[in-house]
Amino acid sequence: MSRTDRPCPICRKPRVPEHSPFCSTRCRDRDLLQWLDEGYAVPGRAAPPAEADED
Ligand SMILES: [Zn+2]
Repeated sequence: MSRTDRPCPICRKPRVPEHSPFCSTRCRDRDLLQWLDEGYAVPGRAAPPAEADED
């Protein structure tokens, strides 16, 4: 597999240059939702402290 032939990181399908590095807008949105789900940018919520090291 060549360097320029990496698959979509979300679903592992061949990526589409138009939506690189994803295969579709759906996967691009899904990647964004993963970020939101982890609480990095939830609207109406305070941003988590930079050093969130509590176990
Ligand atoms: Zn995909």
